Amino acid sequence: MPTEPTTRRRVAFVFPIYNEEANIDLLHKTVDEVTAPHAGRYDFSFLYVDDGSRDGSLAKLTELSACDQRVTVIELSRNFGHQMAVTAGLDLVDADAVVIMDSDLQDPPRVALELLEKWEEGYDVVYAQRRSRQDSPFKRFTATAFYWFLRRMAAVDIPKNTGDFRLIDRKVVDELRKYRERDRFLRGLVSYVGFKQTAVLFDRDKRHAGVTGYPLTKMLRFAADGILGFSTTPLRMITRMGYLISLLSFLGVLYVVGVKLFAPETAVPGWAFITIAMFFLGGIQIIMLGVLGSYIGRTYSQVQNRPLYGVASVRSRPGEPAEDRRSAAR
Ligand code: UDP
Ligand code: MG
Repeated sequence: MPTEPTTRRRVAFVFPIYNEEANIDLLHKTVDEVTAPHAGRYDFSFLYVDDGSRDGSLAKLTELSACDQRVTVIELSRNFGHQMAVTAGLDLVDADAVVIMDSDLQDPPRVALELLEKWEEGYDVVYAQRRSRQDSPFKRFTATAFYWFLRRMAAVDIPKNTGDFRLIDRKVVDELRKYRERDRFLRGLVSYVGFKQTAVLFDRDKRHAGVTGYPLTKMLRFAADGILGFSTTPLRMITRMGYLISLLSFLGVLYVVGVKLFAPETAVPGWAFITIAMFFLGGIQIIMLGVLGSYIGRTYSQVQNRPLYGVASVRSRPGEPAEDRRSAAR
């Protein structure tokens, strides 16, 4: 061995697995081959999170862990969904950098090496951004529409065409562990925590075998998690709508008064009063909903209970225990 084991940086791969029986062997073989030439430099490990698979995935993984000591298998007690599986992986992993990847070989393992290169340049988050993708036109269309919408609505800058395929440094993993919100949209959280982030472009392959674990219903829920988790725009829209309706109702009132004054013969008795009251109340009600909405928005972000800030480093004179202060700042 040319280098001391202690100086090798530890890099862990996290693979969420849901019914990937037919992909596991090839996946592991590919990551093994891709990482082998760099084994002198990095200490690689592979964390497979079985998300309640109903096929033979778990048996395959158990087999794998028996013949490769770098493999760890976590079995979740049922299917919790992709984002939870990755969260479990991030909670339990122990490494200097973590590469999160899909297990159906849609994310090509060789790209992980490019992510590592960027990490060596000092980036804390390196996300793999799709230059092209091989999915169905429907999936491509919905994904494009979703990212367009999300970028317009969300308070954080979530890069488009980016899945969960990314490398994150240990300090970002530590930060993410503090985010315990239940409706998780991890790629949004990773953008939200900050640190030095960059992209690597890649061409996304076809799923190797099996079927997608994201049918339309799950996809819609996921999209809602992304939008609702990172934006209170829909709530704010209520207020805007209230003002708009109030403006219209004000114009309506002018019209009613005009009719009453200048063409009273066309007005049915009682009409002016009822119409004005209706317009007026409609506007007021929606504005009030907006007021409630803005309090709900605040309550929501309070309940999400996200950390108030993240500290990337503390710089002080040499000799001071800066690291201690970084943890004290939490
Ligand atoms: N996955 C998971 N739990 C689920 C659904 C999916 O862990 O409930 C995993 C799946 O095994 C894969 C990754 O999440 O590694 C992405 O899922 P999939 O390829 O089915 O999604 P798509 O690429 O079609 O969006
Ligand atoms: Mg896939």
